[in-house]
Amino acid sequence: MSKRIIIAIDGPAGAGKSTLAKRVAARMGFIYIDTGAMYRAVALWSRNLGVGWDDYHRLEQLAREAEIELTRDNRVLLNSEDVSEAIRAPEISQGASIVSAVPGVRRALVAKQQRMGETTSVVMEGRDIGTVVFPQAEVKVFLDASPEVRAERRVKDLKARGVEADFAEVYREMKQRDERDSTRPDSPLRQAPDAMYLDSSGMTESEVEEALLRIARERTSNGKEVQR
Ligand code: C5P
Repeated sequence: MSKRIIIAIDGPAGAGKSTLAKRVAARMGFIYIDTGAMYRAVALWSRNLGVGWDDYHRLEQLAREAEIELTRDNRVLLNSEDVSEAIRAPEISQGASIVSAVPGVRRALVAKQQRMGETTSVVMEGRDIGTVVFPQAEVKVFLDASPEVRAERRVKDLKARGVEADFAEVYREMKQRDERDSTRPDSPLRQAPDAMYLDSSGMTESEVEEALLRIARERTSNGKEVQR
């Protein structure tokens, strides 16, 4: 009998969650789900429609109605339109952090995320995967890094995408977002009590990947087949 496995990766912005989640998903043949992209898609849609980030009722409606598809080649589709680049704008990072504090938005997106992980093995990354979305996940990691390292990584990412980025500005905005994500009353960024804490500051991408795969092996099949 094969078993469906959920790997939950939570942590602050720039800790390296996406890189790690993509690598591990590719390695294990699991589906990768970037839940931050879903909050970003709702922020983008509300901005495009001129819905205020304080209009909780409309924001919740948009979150319910949004058809968000995360494709196998890591594109993000919102109502069939490819928004993969548009959702990475710094303004949308802040917007995502604002709309994600709205309980109705969280309810709508958490329900979608739970459906995505219902039938197949997934690597899901975000802020509340191990605490709220899949508290029963077999493997939970809280990935962290120092604020300086995280801001440097973010600047590199943005530049690679052709977006102008200034370290001091990115550092300040990231701190603001971390503060908002950690202090909101609904599902704040927290390490689940049974999650493994990993500080990636001085580690290479492959070292982080190996550390997670070790945890995954220990906590799951011990080498037996799992459902893909
Ligand atoms: O991970 P990423 O930086 O793309 O997430 C954007 C924002 O979405 C975060 O700052 C956070 O406010 C929100 N988010 C969340 N819960 C998640 C994933 C992201 O609140 N599971």
